[in-house]
Amino acid sequence: MTGVGGTEWRLRCAVCGREHAVQHAAPCLDCGAPVTAHRVSGGFDVAEGAPGVWQYAGPLGLDPADAWMSLGETMTPVIPDGPLARRHGLGAVHLKLDHLCPTGSFKDRAVAAAVARGRGSGATGIVCASSGNAAASAAAYGARAGLPVILVMPSRTPRGKLLASGAYGATQLLVDGDYSVSFAVARELARRDGYANVTTTYVNPWAVTALRSAAYDLYRQLDGAPDAVVVPTSAGPLVHGLVSGFEDLRAWGLVDRVPRVVAAQPEGCAPIARAWAEGAERVREWEQVETDVSGLDDPLRGYAHDGTLTLETVRRSGGTAVAVSDDRVERERRRLAEASGVHVEPAGAIGVAALEELRIRGDLQPGERVVCMLTGTGLKRPLESGRPPLRAESLERAVAAVAEETT
Ligand SMILES: [Zn+2]
Repeated sequence: MTGVGGTEWRLRCAVCGREHAVQHAAPCLDCGAPVTAHRVSGGFDVAEGAPGVWQYAGPLGLDPADAWMSLGETMTPVIPDGPLARRHGLGAVHLKLDHLCPTGSFKDRAVAAAVARGRGSGATGIVCASSGNAAASAAAYGARAGLPVILVMPSRTPRGKLLASGAYGATQLLVDGDYSVSFAVARELARRDGYANVTTTYVNPWAVTALRSAAYDLYRQLDGAPDAVVVPTSAGPLVHGLVSGFEDLRAWGLVDRVPRVVAAQPEGCAPIARAWAEGAERVREWEQVETDVSGLDDPLRGYAHDGTLTLETVRRSGGTAVAVSDDRVERERRRLAEASGVHVEPAGAIGVAALEELRIRGDLQPGERVVCMLTGTGLKRPLESGRPPLRAESLERAVAAVAEETT
């Protein structure tokens, strides 16, 4: 099966191995497990000057003619956090600021590619189940591509995320129940209406494949592979993208190793971290979601296969999985804002919040070089300031108020 951009790809079920048509964007028709894309031929080249993920049109199998759909996703900054590295005795902690993607989350990498692929294969619209971030991506890229968009979201989606995805003119459908219910509704709508399902679990293999761009970015920005990458994890496509991307780079002789990839989940919804702790082969769906970390609250009901694929991918990289309390996540989120100048949503801070536990467990060694993926912006769900603003009715009082505060 020939792709575009000079690479050849096959789509194969991760469990039973059945091959699917290259236009397929759904779970395996035989067993319901995730279908993933495998590159048969093609190497690494960067299309200098091309926008966003189309810089990697070659290695990702995207059509260069679709590059006009880009909004500038990829090559987000990587910054060192020296105090954080010293606090944990690490050689370096690099923050990958993926919350600076065009709609405020890493999902833009996946959705840009999936919308372009869907449009190219004749989809009449876009549908996406999302707890917020992927919805904003789908709405923005659908608008850019000139396609109608239906967003299916849990009714308790935070208001800031509703507003962020509502701005683009998409149809928003709020559904009671947790994320898994929205997931099922989106799948049904895609099946009925011939819409491309760009839900960013493992539903769409081209969305997952495009997340390899995060590994390509890190390779270019860090001049090689770090020792470990800590990833906020729900179903886990970003874990899959990072590991597969670094495996690509190793196969091409550009790096000598694949970093250990760590899946970080909130304690109140940690199906993958639980399976890891139990030494289990398979991930079971989570019974009762008890976390406020929006975006990482997916119990995987009806598609625990997705979690199993992520668990296998973590193991393949030599990494691990870890669960973190909501309180610790919120503390680190505030520290990131107040001490590092980086404002992310709770999910975006969970990798940083996991560092202490990973050091205690010996999963990170002194002196190692670690990347934390910061996946979503705080602007859709701002931190409440601990300090109320000063108020003044006149110039004199304003000056006096500041003087009083700062002396
Ligand atoms: Zn299968």
